[in-house]
Amino acid sequence: MEHIENEEQFQGLRVNKGISEQPTVNPYLNNYKKFKRKVYTVSEYVEGILKGNITILGQAVTLIESFRQDHQSIAQEVIEKCLPYTGNSIRVGITGVPGAGKSTSIDAFGMHILKSNNKLAVLAIDPSSEVTKGSILGDKTRMERLSVEKNAFIRPSPSAGSLGGVARKTRETIILCEAAGFDRIIVETVGVGQSETAVHSMVDFFLLIQLAGTGDELQGIKRGIMEMADGIIINKADGNNIEKARLAQSHFQNALHLFPLPESGWAPQVLTYSGYYEIGIDEVWKMIDEYIAFVKENKYFDYRRNAQSKFWMHETINERLKSNFYNNPQVQKELKRYEQLVLDSQMSSFAAASNVLDTYFNS
Ligand code: GDP
Repeated sequence: MEHIENEEQFQGLRVNKGISEQPTVNPYLNNYKKFKRKVYTVSEYVEGILKGNITILGQAVTLIESFRQDHQSIAQEVIEKCLPYTGNSIRVGITGVPGAGKSTSIDAFGMHILKSNNKLAVLAIDPSSEVTKGSILGDKTRMERLSVEKNAFIRPSPSAGSLGGVARKTRETIILCEAAGFDRIIVETVGVGQSETAVHSMVDFFLLIQLAGTGDELQGIKRGIMEMADGIIINKADGNNIEKARLAQSHFQNALHLFPLPESGWAPQVLTYSGYYEIGIDEVWKMIDEYIAFVKENKYFDYRRNAQSKFWMHETINERLKSNFYNNPQVQKELKRYEQLVLDSQMSSFAAASNVLDTYFNS
C-alpha cells in the first residue's frame, strides 16, 4: 500500500537538505585567548609585585598554584627575586571548626587591622579542597566588608594536591604578599585535621577559635591543637551566651595550666569576644601585639622563623621526591604489579616496597 505521506499534499514532511551544524566552540576564542591575559616576564612580575600591584600579585599566585612545569619555574624565579623584600610582616594562623565563626571574625579582625594603616592578606589552607576542588575557606564572599577593601588581599586555598603541596603554595604566596607590602598575614584553616600543623609551621602566632558548649567542650579538642595555640579565643560571647563563654574561658585557662610552658616562654591566654557584634576585637589584637613584642625581645621570634625555613626546605625536598617517584612511569607500572603480589600473599609489603624503590633508583 502507498504511504500517504508521499502524496503531493504532504510534501512538507520530506526532509529537506539541512545546513551544517555550528561548531560548539567559538572559532574566534583562540584569538581571544591570545589577548586575554598579558604574559609577563619575570622582571615584570617582580616589579609589579614590589609596586603593590594587586592584579600582578594575583597572577603570580596563580603561577604558584599551577601544576605546569613552565609556570612553576617562572614562579620560583619570581619568589627568589622577591625574597629580599620579605619577612617584615606579622603572620597569624587562625583555626576553628566549621561554624566557629572564622570568616565573621576575620572580617572583623581585618577591618580592625586596616584602621591602623596596615595591609592585610588573608590566605587559606583547606584540606577539603582536595575532594571538593573548590574551597570553603578564604572565600571573598565570606568576608563581605574586607573583600571590597583595597588594602586587603583575599585568596582562597590552592585546590587539589597533597596537603604538603597546598601548604607549600600558601607559604610561597606569603612571600609574594609580603613583597607586595602586605604587613599583616592571616592564614586560615579548618580545625579538623592535619592542616593546623601546616599552618602552625608558617605563622608567628597561632590562634584557636572555640565556642562555649555545655561545659565539656574540652573533650572534642585534640590535645595537640591546644598545645600549638599561642592564644585561645572563645567566640559568640554575646547575648545570653556571655556567661557560658566566661565559664568556657576558665575551663580552657585551667586546662592550659596543665601543659608545660611553651618554648616561646609565653603563657597562652584565653579571651572571650564576639566576632559578629565586634565585642573584644581590640583585646584579641592587643594580645597578639603583646606576644610579638615579647618574642621579639626574647629572640624566640627569629628562632621560630628560622626553624620554619628549615622545616620548609625539608618539606619541599620530601614533596619533590615523592611526586618524582610517583610520576615515574616505570614506578607506576611496577606499583600495580607488586600491589597485586602483596594482595595475593605472594610477597611481603616490605619486600614489595623495596623492589619498587629499586626500580626507581635504577631507572
Ligand atoms: P566559619 O565556618 O568558622 O567561617 O564560621 P562563620 O563565620 O561562617 O560563622 C558561622 C555562623 O555563626 C554564622 O551564622 C555567623 O553569623 C555566626 N556567628 C559568627 N560569629 C558570631 C558571633 O560573634 N556571635 C554570634 N551570635 N554568632 C556568630
